[in-house]
Amino acid sequence: MELVNLKVAEERVNFATAVKTGLGQQQGLFFPEHIQPMQDVQGLLDKPLVERSVVILRHLLGDELDDATLNSIVGNAFNFPARVEAVSEQIHCLELFHGPTLAFKDFGGRFMAQCLANISAGEPITILTATSGDTGAAVAHAFHGIDNINVVILFPKGKISPLQEKLFTTLGGNIHTVAIDADFDACQSLVKTAFDDPEVRQGLHLNSANSINISRLMAQVCYYFEAFAQLPESARNQVVVSVPSGNFGNLTAGVIAKVLGLPIKRFIAATNVNDTVPRYLRTGEWQPKKTVATLSNAMDVSQPNNWPRIEAMLQRGEIQPDEIVGESVDEDYTQVAMKQLAKLGYLSEPHAAVAFRALTKQLQEGETGLFLGTAHPAKFRESVENVLGQPIALPPALVDVAGKEGLSVDIANDYAALKKFMFDRLGK
Ligand SMILES: *Cc1c(COP(=O)(O)O)cnc(C)c1O
Repeated sequence: MELVNLKVAEERVNFATAVKTGLGQQQGLFFPEHIQPMQDVQGLLDKPLVERSVVILRHLLGDELDDATLNSIVGNAFNFPARVEAVSEQIHCLELFHGPTLAFKDFGGRFMAQCLANISAGEPITILTATSGDTGAAVAHAFHGIDNINVVILFPKGKISPLQEKLFTTLGGNIHTVAIDADFDACQSLVKTAFDDPEVRQGLHLNSANSINISRLMAQVCYYFEAFAQLPESARNQVVVSVPSGNFGNLTAGVIAKVLGLPIKRFIAATNVNDTVPRYLRTGEWQPKKTVATLSNAMDVSQPNNWPRIEAMLQRGEIQPDEIVGESVDEDYTQVAMKQLAKLGYLSEPHAAVAFRALTKQLQEGETGLFLGTAHPAKFRESVENVLGQPIALPPALVDVAGKEGLSVDIANDYAALKKFMFDRLGK
């Protein structure tokens, strides 16, 4: 698979290099230069998830990974279902939160971890990352127990909900969690300092495994096909997909699925009030504003880092401008949507509610609406309980961790202390 740096067109790499390096020169994103549509999409939809996903990924990746490797990567990564649930006659939710950390990031994170483990072929690697919640948990679970890969996760001490924190601090083994006595920005800045420190970077073989890694997107393409496989055949030509978006990785994957030949009629790029993309689609002007905190906080992003990939597909004519419609949903309507969904007998959380609201505004007669459920409602228990005024039950994954001991080490906001900790723990 040949990938091109969208900023520095001369830089071309294969999939393995793109997975290992994450970003290209000048922080450019790697992306296929051209996406070849697939043959026999209908036949694909008849296959089970893992078997179908292997075919899709083989098509995208070319022959870089052999069959046995790709089969094992996909089988290990997608070991939980994606489910389509009917919310009303016309509207369905694609539930992507049945993985170990109850969020759709498990799909991309697990696939990336499996790819990296295979590509590094036993060389030691240290993944260093900062988290304000969700990503840390997905990364920790995805890499837990993988030989020769250590993971160090920094998080702001006391600033993550206790349950969120327990989802990634209780694993132990190769997962090392560090509570930094500072805010998230300080954690990110420590990570950056470490990557700029050759002694640490080379000595511990640092890798970022960050959210713009191309492998994540490749994995996410697969669940759009899974959604169609579960929808009634009669509905499949009129499907409008609403994607709750922050960094726009999820929507990028959806657009790739459409370019591959999945007959998605159009997309709704649903955001909260951090609406850089809906405004851009309306006016043609890219004008990020200051990021505002909302109930759907995983989408509190005003400079979405995957957008250049969608822009590339628009410019190449692989998708038409009228096939992506922007829709921004404010806090009041997010709550209204959560209540509407509850009335329909469907318990949801703020991110999916944004997508549902945007969908109901845009859906026309004769169309079938699909919105993505990106997190389990229990992950946003507080806001869900506040808005709906009723207690919600914890799923087993959260009950399990609630009773476990957190294994984090406390460190001050001090790079020297972090460096010492990493060498003591991981250096040989
Ligand atoms: C990360 C996340 C999103 C946003 O996804 P992007 O791919 O960044 O657009 C939406 N909902 C939840 C729950 C998330 O964790």
